[in-house]
Amino acid sequence: MATRSIRLSILVSLGIILIALSGWLVYHAFRPATSFNGQRALQDVAAQFAFGPRTPGSTAHAEVIAYIQKELVNAGWTVEIQSTEWLGFSVQNIIASCSSSAPRIIVGAHYDSRLLADQDTGLGRNQPVPGANDGASGVSILLELARTLPAGSVPISLVFFDAEDNGGLDNRQWIMGSQAFVKSLTVKPEAAVIVDMVGDASLNIYEERNSDPKLTAEIWAQAAALGFAKYFIATPKYDMIDDHSPFLQAGIPAVDIIDFDYPYWHTSADTLDKVSAQSLQAVGETLLAWLVSKK
Ligand SMILES: [Zn+2]
Repeated sequence: MATRSIRLSILVSLGIILIALSGWLVYHAFRPATSFNGQRALQDVAAQFAFGPRTPGSTAHAEVIAYIQKELVNAGWTVEIQSTEWLGFSVQNIIASCSSSAPRIIVGAHYDSRLLADQDTGLGRNQPVPGANDGASGVSILLELARTLPAGSVPISLVFFDAEDNGGLDNRQWIMGSQAFVKSLTVKPEAAVIVDMVGDASLNIYEERNSDPKLTAEIWAQAAALGFAKYFIATPKYDMIDDHSPFLQAGIPAVDIIDFDYPYWHTSADTLDKVSAQSLQAVGETLLAWLVSKK
């Protein structure tokens, strides 16, 4: 009897090991290809928010440039600062690449924040926009893509645009950084994807009307395939002037991924508590999967 019970317990143990092993195999075979981490992206938003508004010429503006550069270099990317002028205003775009080939795809976001919260109805109207969602969220998506894009993927550049968000103030135009960048391009990429205001905890990204229809369809379909159709709503709603506009004007297919149903847009209430890791996860995971599919 003793021998039989030992045999039995060995068999039971083997069975448990086999079940555990097959569970491990199933998990690793079917886990999502992405390792995009929305929590880590939220930490990037928090870091930018802690610098204060990244308005032109401010200390926070210089600090965010240094932060973005450091994170990119740590992730193994080559970084170049494009220091130039647009209509007499200083522009410092940050351009990151991970391949010596010309980029086929540009993924961009603006990192500056607005000098005045002019959509605010209260006293905050005289303050700069804190820019947790408007600015910092897009940057955080690009930084987490830099950390997670698999080696050997399609050659892309990540471009962090300056001077997007101060149109109509001090004779500034909107989207000056991306205008300067597109003018400097020597080889046209196949596509440009812009992310802007993508961290809202209540995320509603409608199709943007000026965007390239094919690119839009591809990215919204990718989102739906990952179970994010409730965030990426396949209905056109707003038409935007954003960093995708100069690309479109240059004949480069471009798409603006933006949640313009954000009640705190250009107000002093665009603060860290309005941004969620879950929303960043949905956008980042979608873009990462779409980029991987372009191989
Ligand atoms: Zn803005």
